[in-house]
Amino acid sequence: MERVDVLAIGAHPDDVEMSCGGTLIKLARAGWRVGIVDCTRGELGSRGTVEIREQEAAKAAALLGAVVRENLGLPDGNVTVTLDAVTALVRLFRFYRPQIVLFPPPFERHPDHEQVHRLVRAAYFHSGLAKLVTVGPDGQPQSPYRPRQLFCYMQAYEFQPSFYVDISDVYEDKVRAVQAHASQVYVPGISPEDEPETVLSRPEFWELLEVRARYFGIRIGVRYAEAFLALTPLGIPTLAIWLQPDP
Ligand SMILES: [Zn+2]
Repeated sequence: MERVDVLAIGAHPDDVEMSCGGTLIKLARAGWRVGIVDCTRGELGSRGTVEIREQEAAKAAALLGAVVRENLGLPDGNVTVTLDAVTALVRLFRFYRPQIVLFPPPFERHPDHEQVHRLVRAAYFHSGLAKLVTVGPDGQPQSPYRPRQLFCYMQAYEFQPSFYVDISDVYEDKVRAVQAHASQVYVPGISPEDEPETVLSRPEFWELLEVRARYFGIRIGVRYAEAFLALTPLGIPTLAIWLQPDP
């Protein structure tokens, strides 16, 4: 059984690391099986090549502790919610059977992020339809399956988070996973200096990453946190999650 517990889906090969890398590292360290799906190879990026970005994505996946990293091979800069794209993602949902899916928020600066949001919502719905027949990698018909929870991570645009995840213990490890994408982000001595400058390739990018994690951490009384948006109301089983027995 190839199933994963949590599947993080991104439009581009470094999206997941930046937006929910700490959350994934914590899950993997706790023994949960974490998987990643990148929808494009990032071939339209101003820096790096598809080959370099593939190697960087593999290195980052190892640093995050992900057991699998797939790529849908959709066109970078032109992700669209086609029947083929939805079916490709349905096959992955039914194959890996994730309980939780993390994906881009509905309103984003990059059109691909918004398209991946819609793609995931469509695949989530279609994946549960019994009469939608798909075939797995083994050639066998797949059973319908719907993940239990969909949560959006935060990218360029801010939203009012539904909850925050404390990533204080793993923040430095998250930074290392993002640094694996040295063709995209500023890593002194490693990043190429002769390629066009982008928002990510300036040293200030690291301040941006840290300031946001710090700010979210402050909001929940810890050092660093990542923020998420739930599409449906969230319940907790008991207030006892905030209770501690008398010493
Ligand atoms: Zn992206």
